Amino acid sequence: MRPIQAVGFDLFNTLITVERGALEDAVGRLVQSLVASGLAVDGARFVEDHRSAALRFIEETRRDGRETHNRFWIQAALEVQGVLVSPEDPRIAEGVEAYFSAFLDHVRVIPGTLEMLETVGQRYRVGLLSNFTHTPAARAILEAVGLAPHFEVCVISGEIGFRKPHARAFEALLSELGVASPDMLYVGDDPEADVAGGLQSGLRPVWSTYVRDRGMPFAPGYDPGDQDLGESGVPRISDWADLIALLDEEHPPC
Ligand SMILES: [Mg+2]
Repeated sequence: MRPIQAVGFDLFNTLITVERGALEDAVGRLVQSLVASGLAVDGARFVEDHRSAALRFIEETRRDGRETHNRFWIQAALEVQGVLVSPEDPRIAEGVEAYFSAFLDHVRVIPGTLEMLETVGQRYRVGLLSNFTHTPAARAILEAVGLAPHFEVCVISGEIGFRKPHARAFEALLSELGVASPDMLYVGDDPEADVAGGLQSGLRPVWSTYVRDRGMPFAPGYDPGDQDLGESGVPRISDWADLIALLDEEHPPC
């Protein structure tokens, strides 16, 4: 087998977790921001209207792989309430920032991750590919938790316009790192986006089940269901020691 040149990572539920209650806090801050901007929002109904809109737009992304953005969900939820504003309205932009400020407060790096990235980075090129609608929030989180300096490249779906499992997402990571797909190990928790997507694009996926194995809350917007990869032959890791062991097996350190 060709030697591994690079290791790619997913972000949510792979390198970082989100505390329970983050989504409620985020939507609460969004409502507060919209009300403060003078929009006539019925807060209690908005929570449900926003949730339905988000699900609808996310479902659409599954059809064509094109990333969505929170401003469209907010615009749609407001419209249900008879509040007509453009998705480009600055009051919506402020609401988006308020919404994501909650995630910044509720994300936690999985213990040992920075040390693992340090070790892996000494031997391989290291890149990140995250499905994240609002790129500035993704970059702010990466900076705030100290992950950013560990990656040579960070590709965010909101920036390139396509989400995993779409091939365009993986192509962006590969081309930015300058490596061929069979030479990249890609570590992620989502069987569809990361594992099936990675396989379709010719990478070597590794399924990370850290969050699942510990019964931790999954990041909002992701429903893991009861998917199992069974006999797919895709390696499964439950912690970073497993990943290092896997890399040592592939390419023993000198
Ligand atoms: Mg994930």
